[in-house]
Amino acid sequence: MKIAIVGGGPAGLYFALLVKKWWPEKEVDLFERNGPDDTFGWGVVFSDKTLSYLKVEDAQTHDEIVRRFERWDNVNVVHHDELVTIRGNKFSGIARIEILHILQARCKELGVNLHFHAPVNDLAPLRTYDLLVGADGVMSSVRSQFEDGFKPDLSTRPNRYIWYGTPHLFHGLTLTFRENEAGVFAAHSYKFSKNLSTFIVECDKETWSSAGFRDMDDDATRAYLEEVFHHDLTGDKLLSNNSKWINFTLVRNRHWSYENIVLLGDSLATAHFSIGSGTKLALEDSIALFHALRDYNRVPDALIAFEAARRPIVEELQDAAYESLIFFENLKDYMHLDPVPFAYKLMTRSGRIDDDKLRKRDPAFAERVFATR
Ligand SMILES: Cc1cc2nc3c(=O)[nH]c(=O)nc-3n(C[C@H](O)[C@H](O)[C@H](O)COP(=O)(O)OP(=O)(O)OC[C@H]3O[C@@H](n4cnc5c(N)ncnc54)[C@H](O)[C@@H]3O)c2cc1C
Repeated sequence: MKIAIVGGGPAGLYFALLVKKWWPEKEVDLFERNGPDDTFGWGVVFSDKTLSYLKVEDAQTHDEIVRRFERWDNVNVVHHDELVTIRGNKFSGIARIEILHILQARCKELGVNLHFHAPVNDLAPLRTYDLLVGADGVMSSVRSQFEDGFKPDLSTRPNRYIWYGTPHLFHGLTLTFRENEAGVFAAHSYKFSKNLSTFIVECDKETWSSAGFRDMDDDATRAYLEEVFHHDLTGDKLLSNNSKWINFTLVRNRHWSYENIVLLGDSLATAHFSIGSGTKLALEDSIALFHALRDYNRVPDALIAFEAARRPIVEELQDAAYESLIFFENLKDYMHLDPVPFAYKLMTRSGRIDDDKLRKRDPAFAERVFATR
C-alpha cells in the first residue's frame, strides 16, 4: 500500500510515523512546501489528557515532547488591573518548532519519505496512491480542489489576532484584558520554554480599525501593542516571526473523505485557539485514522470507520470552542464586570467547567465567586 500525505504539520507527521511504525513495508511519502526549520508562530499549549494518548501510540515521541514541556496548573486573569489566579488547570507549553523537529526525526528514523520544499499544487500525480491524506492546514488546497466531494463549511470570524513571542515569562495561561481609546484588547500568553512566551493579541474589527493597524508596518504594530500591554510586559519586547493580523477561520466539512482522499487536522476541523486544542485535535485525528486503517485494512472501510468514531468527539470540542470564540467576539459586553465575576465568566465560557468542577479545581477561587452572588 502506498500513502501520500500533503502537509508536514503535526497531523501529517504524526500520521506518517504511526503508519510506518506499524507497517514498515508500506511506502509513505509526505510532501511539505516549507523547509524542516520553517514554522509560523511560537509555542502551543496542551492539556494533560492529550499526553496519555501519545504515550500509548509512540512512547519515544511522547517522552521527547514531555521532556521539553513547561508546565503549570494556573490560569491568570488580568482585568481592571487586578490579577485573579485560578488553580487546578493543568497545561503544558512547548515551541511548535520543537514538536515538528521531534516528529520529523522520528519519521526519518522509521523510513517515511519526507519531501521538503515540495508544494503540491496539482493532486493529479498523487491520485495513483492508495490513500491520499490532506493534512495541509486551515487553507487546505486538497480540500478546495475537491470541494464538491468534501462540501466544506468555512466561516471567517470577525475578530483579528496576531501571534507574537516575547522574552517576558508568563507563568501560567495568562489572559490579559486592556482598554484604550481604540477599544478592547485581549492577550493570550504562556511560557513555552525557559526564556520565551507566546503572546497572542486579539481584538474586534472596530478596535482594529480605530487603532489604525491597516496602515502600520510590523515595527509600528509591535510598538503600539507593547504600549497597550506595557504594564504586563513590564517593558519587554514583542517578537515577530512573520507575524500578521489574521481572522480565525472555523472549518467544518460535511464529508470527511472523498474517494480515497481524507482530510486531517486543521484542514478537516478547527477549534478556536482560546481553548488551546488545535494541535491536540490534529494529533488525535491522526491516531483515529491510523486506528481505523489498522482495524479495517481496506481504505474505503477505514475512512468510514474513521469518520464514525471521530466526528462526535471533534464536533463536541468544536461546540465548546465556538462558545469560547463567541465570548471573545463579544468581549465588550463583559468588560464592565468586576475581576472575580469576570474571571468566573471566562472560566465557564465554553460550558466545559461548571460550579462543581470549579470547586474541585480551586475551592478558594470558587468561594470568592460564590461570595459575590
Ligand atoms: C494564533 C494561533 C495560536 C494557536 N495556539 C495553539 C495552542 O496553543 N495549542 C494548540 O494545540 N494549537 C494552537 N494553534 C493551532 C495549531 O497551530 C493548529 O491547529 C495545528 O498546527 C494543526 O496542525 P495541522 O498539521 O493540521 O496543520 P498545520 O500545522 O497548519 O500544518 C499544515 C502544513 O501543511 C503545509 N502545506 C500547506 N499547503 C501545502 C501544499 N499545497 N503543499 C505542501 N505542503 C502544504 C504547511 O506548510 C504546513 O506545514 C494555534 C493556531 C494559531 C493560528
